[in-house]
Amino acid sequence: MTDLHDLATRIRYVLVRTSHPGNIGSAARAIRTMGFERMELVAPARFPDREANALAAGADEVLANAGIHAELVDGLAGSSLALGLSARRRGVTLPEISPREAAQQALAAAARGEQVALVFGNERTGLENDELARCHAMVRIPSVDDFSSLNLSQAVQVMAYELRVAMLGEAPAAVPPVHDEPPADAAQMEQFYRHLAQTLDEIEFHKGREPTTIMLRLRKLFQRAQPDERELRVLHGILADAQRMAGLAKNK
Ligand code: SAH
Repeated sequence: MTDLHDLATRIRYVLVRTSHPGNIGSAARAIRTMGFERMELVAPARFPDREANALAAGADEVLANAGIHAELVDGLAGSSLALGLSARRRGVTLPEISPREAAQQALAAAARGEQVALVFGNERTGLENDELARCHAMVRIPSVDDFSSLNLSQAVQVMAYELRVAMLGEAPAAVPPVHDEPPADAAQMEQFYRHLAQTLDEIEFHKGREPTTIMLRLRKLFQRAQPDERELRVLHGILADAQRMAGLAKNK
């Protein structure tokens, strides 16, 4: 049987561009009460901060061990499944799931030994499109349409609670790995997207059009596929050959 603590350590809470340190503290308390300890902060406005410690109400260790990163991709490093919490649908339509479904998916991945990230946005602006594009699904807490946005730390609490209930309900007995190769992590996916963007330039795919939309679409496609490391190597190989051919065509 998989140890609950082991599962919990594979699940991290990533808070992106948090404005209020009090919310960081409340989020630390929220996850600690549900048996989690790993928090990653991406470009927090103020941290460390006394207000964070005050509202952590004793969950100071979560704060002390929190990673601080400049970019979301660094906060996701090592994770192969990222679930973005958002009150609203944005331009890029990701599959939308409930916190309960998210908890099931997260636990299944953690039971396979993978690392999972739950990603929360800024208090005022939420998660931006390019941040959601790094996620595999969007999790929406089913609030009412005309007042849909929860306080950040309360959204963290709801998600942590669902994970806790799911973990207590059915501690997944050693789930056989579905991947024979490790799934690619966020940093490897980012490297692939850079290679893809560069190749599309070199083969003159864009023809003067702005590349942002097509890159978001392609990200969505590859995020859905969740390639493993071997598959990424094949894709890199194809791109490298396309670059080589583009080079030859140019020099003719
Ligand atoms: N106006 C922002 C609200 C931000 S609230 C927006 O529309 O996204 C801060 C964060 O709390 C959000 O980025 C999200 O991660 C989480 N959150 C708040 N309400 C939520 C809901 N109903 N479902 C899922 N996440 C929610």
